[in-house]
Amino acid sequence: MSQGTSTHVRIDAANLESTRPLVLAIDDSPDVVRLLQVRLKSEAVEFASASSGLEGIELARRLRPAVILLDIEMPGTDGFEILRMLKESPDTVQTPVIMLSGLSSAHDKVTAFDLGAADYVTKPFDIAELRVRVRAAIRTFTLFQMLAQRAQIDGLTGLWNRSHFDRRLVEEVSRHARHASPLALAMLDVDRFKHVNDSFGHPAGDAVLAGVGSLLRKIVRDSDVPCRYGGEEFALLMPDTTPEDAAAVCERVRQMLEQVTWPRHPEHNVTISIGIAGAAKATQLAPEAWVERADRNLYAAKSGGRNRVVWTSIESPLQLNRAG
Ligand code: GH3
Ligand code: MG
Ligand code: MG
Ligand code: MG
Repeated sequence: MSQGTSTHVRIDAANLESTRPLVLAIDDSPDVVRLLQVRLKSEAVEFASASSGLEGIELARRLRPAVILLDIEMPGTDGFEILRMLKESPDTVQTPVIMLSGLSSAHDKVTAFDLGAADYVTKPFDIAELRVRVRAAIRTFTLFQMLAQRAQIDGLTGLWNRSHFDRRLVEEVSRHARHASPLALAMLDVDRFKHVNDSFGHPAGDAVLAGVGSLLRKIVRDSDVPCRYGGEEFALLMPDTTPEDAAAVCERVRQMLEQVTWPRHPEHNVTISIGIAGAAKATQLAPEAWVERADRNLYAAKSGGRNRVVWTSIESPLQLNRAG
């Protein structure tokens, strides 16, 4: 904290990777913050606090709390204004906010609920009541997150779906351009899949897609993003992965898949063709261009005889200029 400011931020979560839900208290009174922290100790939550609204917003954006306890009367920006800002930001619009206030008029409560507050508790608060209200808010938040995540998952394969892929691709491409971290994208297409459907029936085809999905989930790293792109096409986004390493991972996928014996058609193996675009250093390629480059290699893999991996390394524009 810089000297000369009277505000402060406390992040008590000993371990920020903790999976326990985080309660963020935004209140200018150190006494109230301390009381909340002590009284919420028995709950399975992490605790963080900010003594001003604007710091609170910054913390909420960074830490993604499961619930925010927000004071109304604070010097500078008041709680109503902070609530309005929290509800205007896509990062925090879904976070339940419980207003904690000395103001108990119906008018203040109406204003808070109109602005999107989840709950309103008047000070001095009864701690047992506050606890159950915090619990209820966390329950709502967890449920909402579960639903939101489920909407991003493909039902047949259990992989991320197309809409998740589109969003993550944009995020990872911009991270790669900003931080010059490696990035690789693989497009995978099951070979002669129509034949599986036509010869063994659509349930057999579905089983193959589900099998490819579980194989991908098993082989890739936690940081990789395996997706069903559509039909019998898959996309595998590999942040912080060089083209060479991506090719090795995909080669493993290819080899393992061709060795699978399928209960519905043990005599018929299934293979996959894979095209990869990767860059070890920063590039300014747009997200769609990443898909196009990977696709181009996928078509090369198909026309080269299928059941193979084709990859290229995207050079930075500087190197391209030098070469050409
Ligand atoms: P290639 O090696 O050139 O990729 O040949 P292919 O037969 O795999 O390619 P094609 O694009 O001709 O066929 C893809 C088939 O995938 C056609 C479509 O009916 C089938 N398909 C798409 N989605 C599903 C699905 O969810 N389940 C099943 N069973 N089939 C699907
Ligand atoms: Mg206050
Ligand atoms: Mg296809
Ligand atoms: Mg195909």
